[in-house]
Amino acid sequence: DAEKPEYQRVLIKLSGEAFAGDEDYGISPDFLEYISREIKSLYQHGVQIAIVIGGGNIFRGVEGLEIGIDRATGDYMGMLATVINALALQSALERVAQIPTRVLSAIEMRQVAEPYIRRRAIRHLEKGRVVIFAAGTGNPFFSTDTASALRAAEISAQLLIKATKVDGIYTEDPLKNPKAEFIEEITYLEAITRDIRVMDHTAMTMCMENKIPILVLNIKKPGNLLKAVMGQKVGSLVK
Ligand code: UDP
Repeated sequence: DAEKPEYQRVLIKLSGEAFAGDEDYGISPDFLEYISREIKSLYQHGVQIAIVIGGGNIFRGVEGLEIGIDRATGDYMGMLATVINALALQSALERVAQIPTRVLSAIEMRQVAEPYIRRRAIRHLEKGRVVIFAAGTGNPFFSTDTASALRAAEISAQLLIKATKVDGIYTEDPLKNPKAEFIEEITYLEAITRDIRVMDHTAMTMCMENKIPILVLNIKKPGNLLKAVMGQKVGSLVK
């Protein structure tokens, strides 16, 4: 249709948790199908789409500590986990949505993914390919939230969409306290000082310094992603 999107280039952060669907671990085929269709709806509006993938559904660096694996090694394991999710999403996007997709990995593994090269990522976006950023920042002691802020800045994304399981930002965790109040809009500084855990502080600071607005929305509600890029009211905005 003739409706024009409000944002032409967006970065979506998908956590590993989302990939697990209703389970605690692994990759849900239902989620892959669902998210592929959701992304297709943006794609059909001509939006340039980059995605940063989490890995928590498979491995988090800190989990290694419990089994005697040092933090840095555990973090590398976590980054490899994000590559597994990235390949699953690429496959689903191509099969379900027929969208050309490239996986760019911050850790070189040429047989499975292109190495991350900033200018190449931008070129892919301009050519209408969905770009999936894998392996976080490539460095231990960071998170994929920080990777999403970094990549959003690098590709000059106009909006960072943080996909969550709740409708947006609340004064408290709405899953734990039903009296938690919804916050429609908040400044970066306020979110940081009130310790509202939209993303970790490193990621938030990075977005603040580079003036990248963060939209927190419920990924489980069909149509939310599209609403976000069309500039319709959805989720909570940090700016
Ligand atoms: N990780 C890392 N550096 C990065 C990104 C991720 O070391 O730049 C590791 C870290 O161990 C993290 C794991 O990869 O726990 C999976 O990423 P994350 O926990 O951010 O995934 P999510 O919570 O989004 O599922």
